[in-house]
Amino acid sequence: MLTGKLYDIQGFSVQDGPGIRTTVFLKGCPLRCPWCHSPESQAFPTELNWMRVRCLGLDACGACLTACPKGAISAGEETTDAAGAPIRYPDVDKRLCDDCGACAAACRAAALYMCGTDTPVDEVMRRLKRDQPFFEESGGGVTVSGGECLCQPAFTLELLKQCKAAGVHTAVDTTGYVKWEILEQVLPYTDLFLYDLKCMDSALHEQVIGVPNELILENCQKLAARGARLQIRIPTIPLFNDSKAHFDRYGAFLRPLKDAIEVVQLLPYHKLGISKHERLLKKEKIFVAEPPSDALMEERAGQLRAYGLPVQIH
Ligand code: SF4
Ligand code: SF4
Repeated sequence: MLTGKLYDIQGFSVQDGPGIRTTVFLKGCPLRCPWCHSPESQAFPTELNWMRVRCLGLDACGACLTACPKGAISAGEETTDAAGAPIRYPDVDKRLCDDCGACAAACRAAALYMCGTDTPVDEVMRRLKRDQPFFEESGGGVTVSGGECLCQPAFTLELLKQCKAAGVHTAVDTTGYVKWEILEQVLPYTDLFLYDLKCMDSALHEQVIGVPNELILENCQKLAARGARLQIRIPTIPLFNDSKAHFDRYGAFLRPLKDAIEVVQLLPYHKLGISKHERLLKKEKIFVAEPPSDALMEERAGQLRAYGLPVQIH
């Protein structure tokens, strides 16, 4: 049975392509964007997550402390809950934790939970077909996203094929950092690619995100040449890719592809990933910046429009 490792399925999305869509989120990504707004999508295996707002605290509950066979959970320092009352939360040592899930099974508040579920294609299709009337009403469809959904190519391909066979519009949300052969396989079953271009400078791309960008740019050009429809997405990140010079590089790269481009979406950096980062129980510092101003976003949008590109600020 063909399964994919999913971490979510979200209905009624209006962010992931035209109309009302259901987005299937697959786990695992080869990139490490410091501003990632879904950091739970990055690792490939199923892993333990924790949500502070659900946790009852060790004094009221503490079931996780005794459930862990690895001794990975201890009492954290006293702090305050959302109402200002004193509380102690569990402290999970990820170096000792092997993601066995015993604590999540013992957690009646579902504060601890396992992120990543192996799910058969047929089960996903049954879920998607429930939303089909909304797709038909709104001109929407299904978006396969991640993580990088094309890192699970067999599952994604089969899902796209079954959606097309059911008459559902399909979109693939991709980093572009995949072998061309995989993009070529999904191309006939993909109505729209949501294609991320995070940085035009390969050395900077590699330094900040962990991989160079040549493959991403090359695949983008190949998709355009093969008749794919593209929605280009540019996360606009302060002091990384938001300069005038950098946007001129975007413009020069995208102008020859403009017949394939439905829209270029500028996605201003936001701080949403910060609260999610805590859920992963990681102790490392995370990237924090001030979001770019509306004036700067308008200026960058205008810059790309001068290259003949249709641009939206998202
Ligand atoms: S079992 Fe769950 S609710 Fe209870 S203390 Fe542990 S994380 Fe919090
Ligand atoms: S998932 Fe980690 S913290 Fe939870 S019981 Fe297993 S080893 Fe312990």
